[in-house]
Amino acid sequence: MHFYWPVAALSLAAALEVALAVTMRSRLRNSAANPFAMGMALAAFWAISLALDLGTADYGEKLLLLRLRSTLLPFYALVWFESVYRFVYGRKCLYGLRGVAAAVIPATTAVLSWWPDPPAFLVFRRGLWLDQTGSFPVLRFTYGPWAAVFFAYTLVVVVMMFWVLWASLRRSSWDRTGRLLFLAAWIVGGAVNLAFFTNHSPTPGVNYAPIVSPITFGLIALAMVRGSILRLAPVARAMLIENLEDLLVVLDASGAVLDLNRAAAVKLGWLPESAQGRPYDEVLADWPGVVAHLEDDVPGKAEVAIGGKVHDLTVAPIRDRKGRLQARILILRDITDRKEIEAQFQRAKEQAEAANAAKSRFLAMISHEIRTPMNAVVGFTHLLQSTPINDEQRQYLDLIAQGGKALLVIIDDVLDYTKITSGRLELEAAPFKVAELASHTYRLLQPRAREKGIGLELTIDPEIPTVVMGDQVRVGQVLTNLVSNALKFTERGGVFIRLGREEAGDGSRFLVAEVRDTGIGIAPEAMNRIFQPFSQADNSITRKYGGTGLGLAISKRLCELMGGDLAVSSEVGVGTTFTARMRVARASQLSVAPDPAPAPAGRRLSLLVFEDNRLNQHVIGALLKKSGHSVRFAATGQEGLTILERESFDGVLMDIEMPGMDGYETVRLLREREMPAGARHHVIAVTAHAMVGMREKCLSAGMDDFLTKPIDPAALREAIGRCPARS
Ligand code: ADP
Repeated sequence: MHFYWPVAALSLAAALEVALAVTMRSRLRNSAANPFAMGMALAAFWAISLALDLGTADYGEKLLLLRLRSTLLPFYALVWFESVYRFVYGRKCLYGLRGVAAAVIPATTAVLSWWPDPPAFLVFRRGLWLDQTGSFPVLRFTYGPWAAVFFAYTLVVVVMMFWVLWASLRRSSWDRTGRLLFLAAWIVGGAVNLAFFTNHSPTPGVNYAPIVSPITFGLIALAMVRGSILRLAPVARAMLIENLEDLLVVLDASGAVLDLNRAAAVKLGWLPESAQGRPYDEVLADWPGVVAHLEDDVPGKAEVAIGGKVHDLTVAPIRDRKGRLQARILILRDITDRKEIEAQFQRAKEQAEAANAAKSRFLAMISHEIRTPMNAVVGFTHLLQSTPINDEQRQYLDLIAQGGKALLVIIDDVLDYTKITSGRLELEAAPFKVAELASHTYRLLQPRAREKGIGLELTIDPEIPTVVMGDQVRVGQVLTNLVSNALKFTERGGVFIRLGREEAGDGSRFLVAEVRDTGIGIAPEAMNRIFQPFSQADNSITRKYGGTGLGLAISKRLCELMGGDLAVSSEVGVGTTFTARMRVARASQLSVAPDPAPAPAGRRLSLLVFEDNRLNQHVIGALLKKSGHSVRFAATGQEGLTILERESFDGVLMDIEMPGMDGYETVRLLREREMPAGARHHVIAVTAHAMVGMREKCLSAGMDDFLTKPIDPAALREAIGRCPARS
C-alpha cells in the first residue's frame, strides 16, 4: 500500500462530508434535510471508496470497489434532485409510483455492475484492464450502450434540478450572497466533472469530484441554511396568498394596481400582468362598492356587494418609516353564508321571542279572563251557602265550590309552570315560621284525610330553627302539593309528614320535608316520568284520580330553584315517600313581622269599591254587606276620585284593570291629593292578574294591601280587618 496525496484528500473530504451531513440534518428544519444528508453520505462513501481504490493496485479489490460505487452512486443525482425540490417547494416529489419510475434506470445500472455477461445493449463498461502507467494504478475501460442511457438519464435529472433551482432563484427573494454561493458551488462541481468526462482529469480515469465535493456542498449548505431562514417565509407567504380564497389586491400610493392574487384575478377577469400599473377604478370597475369605498378613503372595514355576494372589505395601508403611504392592501372576504346564517339566527330568535311573548300575553289574558267570571261563581256560591236552602241544594253548592277551587288550582299550576320554565319566577326571601307553615298545611288538608278515613300526621324535628329566611309561599306550595298527592293516592293507612334539617355540605342547611304515604305506590318505570310536566304514572290515573300532571313538575323545579331537589322512593302497593330539600337561611326571631292583630269583631266600616264589572260589584258588595260594612261603588277611576273628594272612607278596594284610568293611575292621583291634607286612605288592590311581581308592583304604586280574584271570602275578611281605625 502506497501513500498518495489524493488518498489523504479523499479521506479528509469524506470526513468533512459526514460532518456536513450531520450538521445539515439538524440545521435544515424542513423535509429537504433527509435527502440532503443522504446525498452527503453518498458523497462521503464515494470519497472513501475512491481513496481505497487509489490505495490498492490489486485488480480484484479495485473491481469490487468499482462495483460498490456503481451500486450506490447511480442514485446520487436523484437524491440531490429530491433534496433541491423539497427545499424549494417544501413538499416531496419522488414518492409512490413516481419514485419507483425515477429509480428504474439507476437500479438497473446498479444490478448490471454485478452481472458478468449482460446482453450487448445492456453493457455499461467493457474491456476492463489495470492501467499502471500513470501515477496511480487505475482501472480503465470503455463505455457500452447502457452507459449512454444512464448518462442521458443523469443529465435529465441534473437539468431538472437546475431548472427547479433556477426557477426558485428567479422567483423569490434569495439574497445576493445566496445566489453567488449557489453559482460558485455549481461552477466548482461542474468544472471538475466536466474535466473528468472530457478526459482532462489530472489523473486520467480518476474523477476528482469527490475531493472537491466538500467545497461544493459546503457552499450549497451555506446558501441553503441562509436561504431557509431568509427565503422560506416569503415563499410560504407568497404561496399562501396565492392560494387564499379571499380576494387580495395591492395598490401603490398613486392608486395603481401592483398585484392581485389568483382569486381576485379570476373574479375580476384580469391577468395580474395586465392589471399591473393600471388605475384601480379601471381594474375594479366591476366592484363599484369597493371603488366608492376607496374614493371615500376611510380606513378600516366595510361591507360591499360583489356580484350578488356580500364581502367584508379591509383596507390595510402600508407606510414607510416616516408614515408616508406606500401601498394599500385590499382584502375581500366572502361573508354571504355567514350573513345568511346570522340573519336566520336573528329571525329564529325574533320568532321565538315573539312566540314566547305571545304565549305569556295569552296566558296572562286567559287567566284574567277566567278569574273574573270565577269571581262570580266562587263568590255567589259562598253567598248562596249562607242562605236558607235544602240539603240537596247545599250538596250541589258544595260541589260547585269544589269545582271552582279545582279549576283555580289548575289555572295557577299552568301559570306557575309557565313562569318557572320561562325563568320569570323570582323567589322571595323573607323570614317565616316553619312550624306555623307546616301546621297551616296540616289544618288545610286534615279535612280531606278525615273524609277518606285515613290518618294524617305531622312531626317537626326539634332541631329545626323556629324562624328561617326563604319563600314561604313556595315552600308551602311544595308541601301542600306533596301532601295532597299522598292523600289522593292513599286509600288505607295514612300520610306522614316530617319536617327536618340537613347539612348541605357547604355550610348552609336544607329544610327537608318528607311526605310518606301507604298508598298505591309508583312503578319503577314511571319514576322519571312523573316529574315531567303533564305526565302521570299511567293513563288510568286521570280517569280515576283526575289531575293535570303538573304538580310534581312544578314542585321539583321549585325545590331546584331553592337550591335543593325533590326525590322519590316507592314500592307499588306499599307506599311512596317524597323528600323535598329546600335551602333556607337562618333568620332571627325578631325579624318576623308580628302577626296581624285579629280584626276587632263587629267593626263596621265604610268602604269604597272601584270595580267596573257589574257582576263583580255584586259579589263583592254582597260579601261585604254580609259582614255589616257599608259599600259604595265607583265604575271608573275618575268617578271614584270625585266621590273621594267629597267623602272619606275607612278603606278602598281598588280594581287594577279599569276602562280609561287604571288602578295605578287612580291611586297616584289619590295620593297626590291626599298629600297636603294628611288624611290617608287604606287602599287594597284587587286584581285578577295573578302574575309574578304583581303584589310588589301594587305596593310600590302606593297601595297598602293586595288581594287576588276570585276573592276568597276569608282573605277579604282578613284584609278588611287590617284597615286602620280612623282617628
Ligand atoms: P297530578 O297529581 O295532577 O296527576 P303530579 O305531577 O302531582 O300530577 O303527579 C304526577 C303523577 O305522579 C301522578 O299522576 C301519579 O301518577 C304520581 N304520583 C304522585 N304522587 C304520588 C303518590 N304519593 N303516590 C302514588 N303516585 C303518585
